[in-house]
Amino acid sequence: MGLATSESAFTRGTEYSLSRLDTFTDLFKKYGINWARKYSLWPMPFGTACCGIELMAVGASRYDIGRFGAEAMRFTPRQCDLLIVAGRVAIKMLPVLQRIYKQMSEPKWVISMGACASTGGVFDTYAVVQGIDQFLPVDVYIPGCPPRPETILEGLMAIQRIVENDGVKSSAERGRGLGMVVDAPVQVAVPLNVEKSVN
Ligand code: SF4
Repeated sequence: MGLATSESAFTRGTEYSLSRLDTFTDLFKKYGINWARKYSLWPMPFGTACCGIELMAVGASRYDIGRFGAEAMRFTPRQCDLLIVAGRVAIKMLPVLQRIYKQMSEPKWVISMGACASTGGVFDTYAVVQGIDQFLPVDVYIPGCPPRPETILEGLMAIQRIVENDGVKSSAERGRGLGMVVDAPVQVAVPLNVEKSVN
């Protein structure tokens, strides 16, 4: 009888310890591993048109994508986990884009940057893909023609939020992508004579 009681106490104690360990592991995953992951995204830029130039501006000193830990743009898909499609995609280029996506490591995310990548933009022709989401799982759409660098950073932060909230499942598990649309940040117009008025 006494032995049975001590055994059940032992079992309860073990279960309690394991549940505490699970909680600790979850917290460590969310606030440790996912925190590190969100600040070490490695983008694969697929720039085909003018949006690609705007993407370059995000890497330069004024907007400095390095502040978000995503400045290591690689041109080798196997080392990347964030595909940024910047510009229109011709039907002939589509197999190349799909191959690049397949070569990227899991878990991976996709940003569709600008009107052309998301909808074909003004290029409503048989030769241009009318939205890459017909062929790739897009997680974040960045609106604009072209999107301003601030909006691109908004899109990057949206991906970071996905990662932080444990959205690190493989793309096969996540299905067709999360399809989030970011808003362009509000631009505040600063009058040119602001210094004069202050003085
Ligand atoms: S969305 Fe506008 S800026 Fe971007 S590739 Fe198309 S035409 Fe160029």
